[in-house]
Amino acid sequence: MTVLPHRGRDEPRGARAGLVVQKYGGSSVADAEDIKRVAKRIVDTKKNGHQVVVVVSAMGDTTDELIDLAGQVSPIPAGREFDMLLTAGERIAMALLAMAIKNLGHEAQSFTGSQAGVITDSVHNKARIIDVTPGRIRTALDEGNIAIVAGFQGVSQDKKDITTLGRGGSDTTAVALAAALDAEVCEIYTDVDGVFTADPRVVSKAKKIDWISFEDMLELAASGSKVLLHRCVEYARRYNIPIHVRSSFSALEGTWVGTAPHSDTKEQKVEQAIISGVAHDTSEARITVVGVPDKPAGAAAIFRAVADAEINIDMIVQNVSAASTGLTDISFTLPKAEGRKAIEELEKAKPAIGFDSLRHDDRIGKISLVGAGMKAAPGITASFFDALTDAGVAIEQISTSEIRISVVTRADDVNEAVRAVHTAFGLDSDSDEAVVYGGTGR
Ligand code: ASP
Ligand code: MG
Repeated sequence: MTVLPHRGRDEPRGARAGLVVQKYGGSSVADAEDIKRVAKRIVDTKKNGHQVVVVVSAMGDTTDELIDLAGQVSPIPAGREFDMLLTAGERIAMALLAMAIKNLGHEAQSFTGSQAGVITDSVHNKARIIDVTPGRIRTALDEGNIAIVAGFQGVSQDKKDITTLGRGGSDTTAVALAAALDAEVCEIYTDVDGVFTADPRVVSKAKKIDWISFEDMLELAASGSKVLLHRCVEYARRYNIPIHVRSSFSALEGTWVGTAPHSDTKEQKVEQAIISGVAHDTSEARITVVGVPDKPAGAAAIFRAVADAEINIDMIVQNVSAASTGLTDISFTLPKAEGRKAIEELEKAKPAIGFDSLRHDDRIGKISLVGAGMKAAPGITASFFDALTDAGVAIEQISTSEIRISVVTRADDVNEAVRAVHTAFGLDSDSDEAVVYGGTGR
């Protein structure tokens, strides 16, 4: 049965108490057998007296297959049509899931994102949700149905075109619906037992985290942890929706993400760990703009050119300029997939910026140590660098926030580096090894 503990907030929600939003990722609904298994799980939740809204992703690797197919007919598929294509994956899953639930003798109705009232801006392939008006979902629930909603999609406010929210966007759909429906909890079902102190695919001794704050989870997600999407956690924090990340393949309690639970009783007392975890990311590339005139206007022109192309950049380093030339190099990291576009934009702006050349490196990796407790603990940075040095990992770039330290290394060094840091900070578990039930991490 679904356990709904303390909400971690002052006021319990009255009106819609008992409404649960459950999100199932692609690896939880990879084939017909999986869909039947998930349907049973959903029905059990309903039998326990909850109203249930389910957000579902496309089956298995469907989204990747559709992307591949699009690439075969057009090198740069039109955004509108690309979104129309990709949303088909979730529509298949939602309809099959509704059928499987009905087959178990329970009422279910499936809805596209548009039908569910997910309203977005019109940036195709990475639209942002601007409003959720789930009137039809409420009606379906009031009539006793389980509502199944296609994840990762919506409809644009102005043009009424179908949009997608970016890869992994079903998590965001789930949290947005949970907020709009005033749900008790948003359960994110995946193929691991929760959020771990490192990716269990890389660190077999990673430990499951029982509770983690929105802030630490946001940093982990921003640093490459793929278990929850950054945008989804941001949304959950804004509306204070507790997220329960757990496996659809086991009945174990997973990881609660939220504000600190009330600690009136001893059992409920949850300590904030000094270090929450080690995240890694090999999905970024680095562009170096070589020979930029060392004036603030130069850097501004570079980042304006990149921003105008809607490219999000991550770490920035400006090298000390050579006094004799007055020229400097500026490097930044960005998603690999955006590398080509960034280079094109910079070349276009070359006369205005006035640089010598561009260098592109897509063999970089990033390792980050995250934890709010590090604010008050001296020596964390030193131990982090010691661990990397001992593992023979060369550090190429550094950035920090109040609760995170990140370094850029060679991509080939990343796994080794993550394991070394995980061990150095005493995060290795001595008992059960982490279980990975699926394969895709979704
Ligand atoms: N099916 C989409 C993807 O693979 C959305 C999701 O899984 O959340 O990115
Ligand atoms: Mg998917």
